[in-house]
Amino acid sequence: MLQIKHLNVNFGEKQVLKDINLNINKAEVVALIGPSGSGKSTLLRCLNFLVNPTSGEISIDNITVDAKKATKKDIFKLRQKTAMIFQNYNLFKNMTAIENIMEPMITVQKISKNKAESIATDLLKKVGLLNNKDSYPSEMSGGQQQRVGIARAMAVNSDVILFDEPTSSLDPELVGDVLEVIKNLAMEGQKTMLIVTHEMKFAKDIADKIIFLENGIISFEGTSYEVFQECKNQRVSNFVNKMT
Ligand code: ADP
Ligand code: MG
Repeated sequence: MLQIKHLNVNFGEKQVLKDINLNINKAEVVALIGPSGSGKSTLLRCLNFLVNPTSGEISIDNITVDAKKATKKDIFKLRQKTAMIFQNYNLFKNMTAIENIMEPMITVQKISKNKAESIATDLLKKVGLLNNKDSYPSEMSGGQQQRVGIARAMAVNSDVILFDEPTSSLDPELVGDVLEVIKNLAMEGQKTMLIVTHEMKFAKDIADKIIFLENGIISFEGTSYEVFQECKNQRVSNFVNKMT
């Protein structure tokens, strides 16, 4: 479903990702963990070319893009396969919750306004925010805004959802609701999900696969059990225990 081959990213002199190779199956939920600065966001951003890799190849579904030969059209096609949820919600400030969710359906997918409204209403229900349908971002808490962001990502029919620390800028009491929404989405088993997170219990609960990134290298890859229960890698074991 998603394949990364020999991915390298340099920022000037600094090599931030070093020969990353990764295979992810359809509907798999993958948690990406590791110290700050290890390259987690960069890796996620390469998947939709928000960061241009220096070299390597990215395939999602039937689209394969070689970083050295990527055309605008390739990148556009790849982007249609993914939706991204950022740390800071990135909602349109001048639009209500429901308008935020409808916007990409209308402009990108060319769905009719009525249909978009009905899908958006269902999604708002799903993330527990039907009562906030006409609220502007400034009228919602961070957690509510992030749930609107997740509903918006679900609305565009992408196969892969990328989460970059979706709860790290939330007040602690708001984190639970957002994790719950992501958990429900994972349990539906429809979407392939890649989640950068520092929430170890959450990663342990939902991830089919956990990837530990350190200094731009995947230094460990395993199941939840292999990371949390019976970890053979001391460095990873120390990391996850320190975080929980
Ligand atoms: P993480 O998400 O794991 O904290 P990042 O992927 O954000 O790590 O960053 C990895 C490294 O790349 C860091 O050293 C960071 O300073 C550097 N970096 C990230 N983005 C840029 C950029 N646009 N230009 C230069 N250096 C960057
Ligand atoms: Mg990051």
